[in-house]
Amino acid sequence: MSVPISQMWTVASYVLKQKLLGRKRYPLVLMLEPLFRCNLACAGCGKIQFPVEILRKQLTPEQCFDAVDQCGAPIVSIPGGEPLLHPQMPEIVEGLVKRKKYIYLCTNALRLEKALPQFKPSKYLTFSVHMDGPREEHDHAVCREGTYDIAVSAIKAALQQGFRVTTNTTLFEGAQPERIRGFFDEMMALGVEGMMLSPGYSYEKAPDQDHFLQRNQTYRLFRSILSAPKKVWQFNQSPLFVEFLKGNHDLECTPWGNPTYNIFGWQKPCYLVDEGHTQTFDQLLEEVEWANYGTQSGNPKCANCMVHSGYEPSAVNETFSSLGGLWKTAKLTLFGPPKTNRPLPQLESDDRFDDPHAPQRPEQKQTELPVLQ
Ligand code: SF4
Repeated sequence: MSVPISQMWTVASYVLKQKLLGRKRYPLVLMLEPLFRCNLACAGCGKIQFPVEILRKQLTPEQCFDAVDQCGAPIVSIPGGEPLLHPQMPEIVEGLVKRKKYIYLCTNALRLEKALPQFKPSKYLTFSVHMDGPREEHDHAVCREGTYDIAVSAIKAALQQGFRVTTNTTLFEGAQPERIRGFFDEMMALGVEGMMLSPGYSYEKAPDQDHFLQRNQTYRLFRSILSAPKKVWQFNQSPLFVEFLKGNHDLECTPWGNPTYNIFGWQKPCYLVDEGHTQTFDQLLEEVEWANYGTQSGNPKCANCMVHSGYEPSAVNETFSSLGGLWKTAKLTLFGPPKTNRPLPQLESDDRFDDPHAPQRPEQKQTELPVLQ
């Protein structure tokens, strides 16, 4: 179990309180995007394609605090863009720590080592370092050589200075299970607290459209990687979500569980799909026609989506919704995953299935640093 007891207790008591209050939809993790600019230009990213005038904008600390107070979620994830490019990030983090929010600052770590003196170690602050596999795969995914080594050096420095560190890994078609398993060993040997996994979401605007996973591809890939998991591997996510990725457990998306706030406002309906914005969190909950989203809705934008921001809150909600959910989670935590997998469903997208052991993605151009830093 990689998450500290105090954090688990905070989340468990928060969810139970929402249940007692009879709230049908409640946020669990606020995705706070203070800016979209980045010092990388990854092929699978759907966040950095805005025009320069938008990339130059950023949320003020006060806007961040107001969003956090409106939403009330106990966990705040800070993705981007690259949050460490925001000059007031230390002030934003300090304000969130004061509010006793558990923060996951998601970074590619290119600036992390240099930035560490601006932050104080705290149980509330975790650096979640973007690592898309072993050196070769990671540098390929982020389209720049040398980033893996920089990130590893920053992870070591952060751990040495007493910070909490996790990794976040997005997997695409072509990922090789044995190499990913070796990568997990490497990350755990560094001493990270836990690892987060997610299949990539097929952003319409991402430059590389050929390597997003279809649903059954995701099941097969995660089964290959996570069959016979090693005891040393710690995952910073719900065991029900991990079984969902393997096709052994059904979850329906609860996009309101991870609402997104950025320079435009509260994004409708979720972190991945942008169909406009509201000015307040309450308006977001009221205005979105939630039945139009999730796999069962038939919405093509959701058909192959299995990302953590849609389904991890569903897993946590299930854990605390009934004794059955709590028992399932406890059983997976204590005794590990089932030895056999469920038969896979027949899906329309199967005709696009490629062997997950297939050769790596074709060569991509190494990008130069974007102008905005
Ligand atoms: S299924 Fe994915 S894309 Fe659809 S609403 Fe949920 S998180 Fe968003």
